Amino acid sequence: MAITLYWFRNDLRLTDNPSLAAACAAGNELLPIYVRSSDETTATSWNFPRWGVERRAFRDQALDGLDRQIAARGNRLRIFAGRPAEVIVEVARRTGAERVFCESIAAPEEIAEVAALREGGLDVCEQWQSSLLLPADLPCTIEQLPGVFTAFRHAVERAGVLPRAPLAASAQLPPAPSVALPIGLTETATQTAATPWFAFSDPAFHGSEASALAHVEHYFESAAPQSYKATRNGLSGPDYSTKFSPWLAVGALSPRTVFQALKAHEARCGANDSTYWIWFELLWRDFFRFWSLKHGVRLFRARGLSERPPAQQDAQAFARWCAGETGHGFVDAGMRDLACSGYLSNRMRQVVASYLIHDLDGDWRAGAAWFESRLIDYDVCSNHGNWLYLAGRGADPRQGRRFDPDKQAATYDREGRYRALWGVAGGPRNA
Ligand code: FAD
Repeated sequence: MAITLYWFRNDLRLTDNPSLAAACAAGNELLPIYVRSSDETTATSWNFPRWGVERRAFRDQALDGLDRQIAARGNRLRIFAGRPAEVIVEVARRTGAERVFCESIAAPEEIAEVAALREGGLDVCEQWQSSLLLPADLPCTIEQLPGVFTAFRHAVERAGVLPRAPLAASAQLPPAPSVALPIGLTETATQTAATPWFAFSDPAFHGSEASALAHVEHYFESAAPQSYKATRNGLSGPDYSTKFSPWLAVGALSPRTVFQALKAHEARCGANDSTYWIWFELLWRDFFRFWSLKHGVRLFRARGLSERPPAQQDAQAFARWCAGETGHGFVDAGMRDLACSGYLSNRMRQVVASYLIHDLDGDWRAGAAWFESRLIDYDVCSNHGNWLYLAGRGADPRQGRRFDPDKQAATYDREGRYRALWGVAGGPRNA
């Protein structure tokens, strides 16, 4: 029987995974694989690794959960280490597989990986599946995507576009290949990683799909969605926002599953401004994905989409920012939170990013790289999209948004509790 490869990327789930369903329907033996990239721990040009400890730990938990689900369906996840395209071409050569299925990701390095597979002689069946809405269902083509979020949202809502229903996970997977494995490549076991200190070390925040689905259920069974709009600017704790992002980032959770649960909650408890705002924020996530599809590699330039010259990076000021030692108490609390927990509230992401860009005149790409290393919910489209937006080099009609850190501290941390939590003195300006 022929062998089909399924390459898991940022879609570490069985529920609502149309690309995996297509691989299963190919009617062959199925070899599900994941490749831990050799780039994960090597230093970037900014002198720190692309994947920090917390980010790797959360992803490894997701892999562990995936492996268990696949095993329960009669197959096994194989995990390799190396350069993904090279590893996959080699696995295909040694097993005789000719076709690989995977999700499509709108970012230059990920696009290059797929191109390398094709150059290596593989038939690659890619499928777009990470957004709430499908590009084909939008009221405009990707080329016609509006330049600002509000115009995009209005167009979607006027046209009444809604997400398609999520696919259920299949009860059984095709059998694993009968050829002898391991096949001489570096195979690594799934790792039962320690829980990163996220949302106060709550074991419920495990990276697996099972935990993601349990958290979605728990969140929508609670009263929290009814007041989301009022609480979403909170700074610490598990409940002020949904905390869906880490699972969405590794793909242990599909946004369509979230939407389905949101609608069920509204049917049970009523729809209001707050429940609407969850859809609103998920649309931001979609917007940045389509934005990446439209602009591609131009989003990774120092000047982004603008023609303004790039900022001159001050390496020492940047190092102090990363370490939470800028001298501005509110900013430092946020940076320490990020370094310790691998997560940061949306409000603090805006404050610290704005501080690097507008107060320290730093290079937004360095800040985005630090977020990439630290955030367990790092997502290339959302991260770069938000950084460019704040820098006024992306989707922002106002040419950059500066958040006055003193005003932000006075509004959101009036009593200095957040600063005290992170060992920084309270008061409006660390005074
Ligand atoms: P909630 O407030 O509960 O929102 C629900 C969901 O909506 C989120 O899970 C997320 O998927 C989506 N969402 C909310 N706000 C945004 C937004 N501004 N842009 C895109 N999607 C949004 N989000 C990431 O998922 N990965 C990143 O790498 C990332 N980097 C960011 C960098 C900067 C500089 C800024 C300002 C924001 C960034 N965000 C990123 C967006 C946002 O801060 C997080 O999605 C949010 O804080 C995650 O927590 P939550 O799931 O509780 O969000």
